Amino acid sequence: MRFEDFNLDPMINEGLQAMSFEKPTPIQEKAIPLIMSGVDIIGCAQTGTGKTAAFILPVLHHLLQNPTKGVNTIILAPTRELAMQIDQQIEGFSYFTNASSIAVYGGGDGEDYVRQKRALKTGADIIIATPGRLISLIGSKEVDLSQLNHLILDEADRMLDMGFHDDIMKIISVLPKKRQTLLFSATMPPNIRKLAKGIMGSYEEISIKISKPAEGIDQRAIMAHDPQKEALLTEVLKNKDFQSVIVFASTREKVKNIARTLKRKGDKVQDFHSDLDQSEREKIMQQFKARNLRVLIGTDILSRGIDVEGIDLVVNFDVPPDPEDYVHRIGRTARASKTGTAITFINPRDIPKFRQIEKLIEKELKKEQPPSELGEGPQYSSAGKSRSGKGGQRHGRRSSRNPQGKRRGGSFRSGKKSGGHSGRGGGDNRKSR
Ligand code: ADP
Ligand code: MG
Repeated sequence: MRFEDFNLDPMINEGLQAMSFEKPTPIQEKAIPLIMSGVDIIGCAQTGTGKTAAFILPVLHHLLQNPTKGVNTIILAPTRELAMQIDQQIEGFSYFTNASSIAVYGGGDGEDYVRQKRALKTGADIIIATPGRLISLIGSKEVDLSQLNHLILDEADRMLDMGFHDDIMKIISVLPKKRQTLLFSATMPPNIRKLAKGIMGSYEEISIKISKPAEGIDQRAIMAHDPQKEALLTEVLKNKDFQSVIVFASTREKVKNIARTLKRKGDKVQDFHSDLDQSEREKIMQQFKARNLRVLIGTDILSRGIDVEGIDLVVNFDVPPDPEDYVHRIGRTARASKTGTAITFINPRDIPKFRQIEKLIEKELKKEQPPSELGEGPQYSSAGKSRSGKGGQRHGRRSSRNPQGKRRGGSFRSGKKSGGHSGRGGGDNRKSR
């Protein structure tokens, strides 16, 4: 199928050509005709599958066919970064048209607010907004929403995670009832359907099954106790083929600690988390895109929706809690059929979670051990799985040779200082490479 087959406005097709979009992705193929037909939909497909164009193209088409005076379309997005990215895509698709769009978001300075207000007053067909900022703009009565035709919730799952439910409902309460509502999400937890039932009448659901990670991704897994992970990451980063790297860790505190450690080693590193204000985050993203930063370290806030091309390496410092998050995270590399590497550090506690991931990706990865100078990592087979059904022996072995509490208490570090494997039983050494 080609984009021309949708019979979109010719000016949109020109924009698509200029952006070198040749073939619609699966979600685009399914969603575009349905949205053009005017129905409400939920569209669910994993990150990086082209959901943005799936809703923008038909909405833009409808707008060109039926121009309105006030705001025609509102797109709600969870973060400023995402709002700006959506706006950039719209600018590309609408380049040859006279449709206008503006991104409005909080977190900037007062000047931003004034600029956004002014731009809204002079009129924009499409507003891309974070919920909080839109509410204050609506409150200031600067926006004419009486002509609104489309409401789109992008990354609805993330917006609910971030606690935007009430804001969303507040916004919807002031919108015209007769409108098309489109809800897009990377995942489909029950609260999404609940939200959909609350804000749409009847709707169609399009779900593109989570696909396995792109073939171009070299997926690796290294067994590591928590105290080994920073040194292991440092080792991994010695490979200078990895020019553009994202590291995911489970908590903000860890993110900061890792960043501190790597910075001390002289790498161009930046932590990325919700403690940073919006303009800081934006600056960081720009530096990363421009390759002035080699390593970006963040929590899952980084994993969805951020579209940076050409990432060479994704490191899961911790195994992500949800198997689908694994696919989302490593999907940051090897986009658009480029190749990339994804490395996951697995501690004993995370083994069951990693098994879930392997189930989802239908692939068992080889479990590597850390380089021997870092000491031995945990054994993969020693926890979690009851493969044989009678795991007695296995369990016995786990408790005898996995004294993790002790290692974390410092014996691992002191062992390392004194040259590696001291203080280990022979049974342990047997397992190291
Ligand atoms: P999602 O919202 O599903 O995470 P995006 O809409 O951000 O995905 O798209 C991911 C990337 O793929 C973007 O860089 C986008 O420009 C590109 N892309 C989307 N659809 C196509 C297409 N049909 N052909 C080429 N590139 C595309
Ligand atoms: Mg998206």
